[in-house]
Amino acid sequence: MAIRNIITKENPLLRKKSRVVETFDDRLSTLIDDMIDTMYKAEGVGLAAVQVGVLRRVVVIDCGDGLIELVNPEIIEREGVQEEVEGCLSLPGESGVTLRPMSVKVKAQNREGKWFFYSGTGLKARAFCHEIDHLDGNLYIDRLSPNQNN
Ligand code: ZN
Repeated sequence: MAIRNIITKENPLLRKKSRVVETFDDRLSTLIDDMIDTMYKAEGVGLAAVQVGVLRRVVVIDCGDGLIELVNPEIIEREGVQEEVEGCLSLPGESGVTLRPMSVKVKAQNREGKWFFYSGTGLKARAFCHEIDHLDGNLYIDRLSPNQNN
């Protein structure tokens, strides 16, 4: 387990699309373990592999109700709308109000390749959307609400 460096918005990798994980090996496990350490050290609620410079579809999330590891995650249902302040470990010191679904359902694999379903509302829905966006090179600043003063 190790802390990795979190890249920031000047790094063009953040705008690249991450590749599907096809090999569920020790290397993947090490990446996930390092991402968990890095997320907790940075006091974030989520981290995508691209943020540590690895273009793989891997995300870790902990909104205070338990750690979730997502490999090849996909949002399969979206419901409602929320407008809340959002930030990103790769854009330190910045924040903005975004438009996101109020709740989402996600399917993803774990580090062994087994598929699971998750659902999240509020902060957790935002975390799922935010981190999965990273896998396609999207940042929260692409989802800003016109109402930046609420
Ligand atoms: Zn982020």
